[in-house]
Amino acid sequence: MDAADLSQRHDEILLKANLYKSKKAAPSPAACGCCLNCEKPLAEPGRRWCDADCRDIWWSENA
Ligand SMILES: [Zn+2]
Repeated sequence: MDAADLSQRHDEILLKANLYKSKKAAPSPAACGCCLNCEKPLAEPGRRWCDADCRDIWWSENA
């Protein structure tokens, strides 16, 4: 990996961070009683993911 690769990776991370921020401001998917990522049933009403990992995976796949 050279400096150009590193620079591009950095740009991608920034782009993802910006996407994530704008997604947070946009309307979010409704809670369905189970994790949107792994479909594990969730006891807490209004909760959409079982943990931060599932949330991040879901956003990375649905951004
Ligand atoms: Zn999950």
